Amino acid sequence: MNEGLERFRKVLELERAKGYADTAVMGGLDRFLRALLESDRLPPGSAVLKTIRGLPTRGYHSLRPTERQRWLDRALATASAAEASPTKRPMRAQRPAPRAVAAGTADSGLDAPITSLKGVKSGLAARFARLGVHTIRDLLALFPRRHNDFARLHRIAELVVGEEQTVKARVWSADDRKLGRTLRGTEATVGDESGMMRVVWFNQPYLARQLRTNAEVVLSGRVSLHKGHPTFENPEWELWEGEDLTHTGRLVPVYPLTSGLAGRTVRRVVKQALDAHADALEETLPASLRQRLDLPPSTQAVRQMHYPDSWEHLRLARRRLAFDELLLIQLAVLRRRRKWQEGGLADPLPVPETTLRDFLASLPFPLTDAQQRSMNQILADLSQDRPMSRLLQGDVGSGKTVVATAAVLAAIANGRQAVMMAPTEILAEQHHRTVCGILGADDSDALAAAAQPPYLGRPLSLALLTGSVPAADKARLYEAITAGEIDVVIGTHALIQEGLEFARLGLTIVDEQHRFGVMQRAALREKASRSAHMLVMTATPIPRTLALTLYGDLDISVIDEMPPGRKPVKTLWAAPEEREESYDFVRRQVGQGRQCFVICPLVEESETLEVRAAVQEFERLRTEVFPDLCLELLHGRMSGREKDAAMRRFREGEADILVSTAVVEVGIDVRNATVMMVEGADRFGLAQLHQFRGRVGRGDEQAYCLLLSDSPSQEARQRLKLMEETTDGFRLAEADLEMRGPGEFFGTRQSGLPELKVARLTDVALIELARSEAAALLESDPDLARPEDALLGREVRRLEQQVTGEVH
Ligand code: ADP
Ligand code: MG
Repeated sequence: MNEGLERFRKVLELERAKGYADTAVMGGLDRFLRALLESDRLPPGSAVLKTIRGLPTRGYHSLRPTERQRWLDRALATASAAEASPTKRPMRAQRPAPRAVAAGTADSGLDAPITSLKGVKSGLAARFARLGVHTIRDLLALFPRRHNDFARLHRIAELVVGEEQTVKARVWSADDRKLGRTLRGTEATVGDESGMMRVVWFNQPYLARQLRTNAEVVLSGRVSLHKGHPTFENPEWELWEGEDLTHTGRLVPVYPLTSGLAGRTVRRVVKQALDAHADALEETLPASLRQRLDLPPSTQAVRQMHYPDSWEHLRLARRRLAFDELLLIQLAVLRRRRKWQEGGLADPLPVPETTLRDFLASLPFPLTDAQQRSMNQILADLSQDRPMSRLLQGDVGSGKTVVATAAVLAAIANGRQAVMMAPTEILAEQHHRTVCGILGADDSDALAAAAQPPYLGRPLSLALLTGSVPAADKARLYEAITAGEIDVVIGTHALIQEGLEFARLGLTIVDEQHRFGVMQRAALREKASRSAHMLVMTATPIPRTLALTLYGDLDISVIDEMPPGRKPVKTLWAAPEEREESYDFVRRQVGQGRQCFVICPLVEESETLEVRAAVQEFERLRTEVFPDLCLELLHGRMSGREKDAAMRRFREGEADILVSTAVVEVGIDVRNATVMMVEGADRFGLAQLHQFRGRVGRGDEQAYCLLLSDSPSQEARQRLKLMEETTDGFRLAEADLEMRGPGEFFGTRQSGLPELKVARLTDVALIELARSEAAALLESDPDLARPEDALLGREVRRLEQQVTGEVH
């Protein structure tokens, strides 16, 4: 096989798996393609070369997402075809022989392009490609969205108007005719021993020829009355040719459709693939495991997923396939965890008891029980020689920073360095200020703050590392860090990951990183230091199921208690007619010297539109509603620096109102802000609304959250009500996950999880089962090398490769 081609295909598949975000290869796809062209590793004159050259001169990166997808799908089809026909001839044969696949797989035809199926030409294949289906294997995994129950056959005389039903009948007549003034279609009369009925298909005059008189057909659809006679309009139909039906007379799959692909076509092609290839599907689960858990074999499960014999068969099939997906995730996540724990020894960082006691005594407040518990868990981890991998989870304002600072103390008390990373410059500054405060350092010199806390018995230095640091200072700072002269570095993810070398790093703290997934975290850790302890902090309450998956590689500490005296934010859902009142309320608060956030509605899919809407809203508020107040605007199209500047002006009290898109979500702390007003609140998820709400109420004043929504649906009303009723982030997160699914909750693409086809991340029981089975498997066969585990091993490695983006 041509090596260049293979690499080309792998990279493209990865790019597809990662959502066409141009993240498959370091440096971007365009650079990769350029290098590939220059390397002469592609067969000269091949169609693949042409496809690459067919990109616009500004490259793949310049394409819009849909265009990227279109190009990439085409390129992949070309690559598959070229690999299948190893001759130098540019591919012309539309039905190449099945190609051999990656080592380890028998040539079962499963990885052949779908054009190897009879009657599937390149045009049809291109339409399937839009559903992400390229190979037979993809096709078998194109699971239906639901099933129609056409299983029970009814007699015509017993049909109930308005219900979906199925009859088996004989064609009496079928004619191609005009139905209405311009419409042509087929009108048929069919009958069984109980009676007769009328059937019409609009726009499908050709059916008349297929429904020959006396043919037996099965028809499924909703029955209506036409001039008093039972009628089917556009029913599913199929000629009765024995028991094995595809479109009717059974539980019939309903597939995701794409333009130009009729349901019938998808069913026919999938059925064909099932009949010819399902038996070749590998059984990935060890037999003993399958039997113990009473799971059907994979071949059977896949068949039953498409064409179940009964609802119960379907349920069992789903359970089996969902288990497969969850097991793979758990294996990957637990392997990752084992690798860390075994891969590098960390230096234990025990804190002397007196040091800790004096540190705690130096704080202006006693820790809450939850803080104390979390801190003990962290300090216990740190005193081991196994690198800590712990998540510290706590609602906004629950006091994570001070707990993290105790961990920092453990590092420096042992002569180690600690680093704390935040997603934005402002947050890094905020942490720097807070940590300096806790350790008693003067934070006025960001480059080198110093302190001499009595409980440490030596001076210590802290530095803030952000994009605003001038290049010369930055270079000096890097040097000082590398020389070990700085104990604590706080900065943005980006800067710290940019090749910063520590003299003796002991602890890495990553804040607000719910935007990372398991595998990205792994990469981060590798970069930071394999032997450093790691603490991850997040303010997003994470339901148990997600904790087991997205954060399944970490131990978890939860701060589930607020410091005393915190006033809960009063939350009110305001109807449209209360909008003016809400503005008056904002004005009064500003009159009392407070500040206010206004969040603009979410515009799905289009940041451009969202930004435009935010700019308009800003202008409207500035000129019409609050002409006398000072407003600031914040949105996602501003540069990091502009955003930080706007935030800073707001935080410094230079503006009364900050109008913003959802970008303000992350943990920014403006103590003087008392009102969070969210426009179009029904469009946001609960978890996100809760995050917004957490932006206010950080000071002593009573704070308010006003949720505006012009025409909330029934479901949206319920969600907004829940926001009014509870400030419990966990409850809201659970409800959110339940209502909207994990994709919405976190954005699956960013989560580092593969897209789940069958499993639901709300199924705690199955996730827990998968986790315990995965743990047991790894216990007895850590490398998944035993023959009965080998296929699982291969799948896990494939998954790891897919989500970390490593191309081997
Ligand atoms: P978050 O968990 O959102 O990062 P912070 O660490 O920023 O929360 O803490 C929020 C505020 O609560 C800070 O002003 C901090 O000083 C204060 N705080 C933290 N712990 C306590 C406590 N135990 N008692 C009183 N105030 C506390
Ligand atoms: Mg915080």
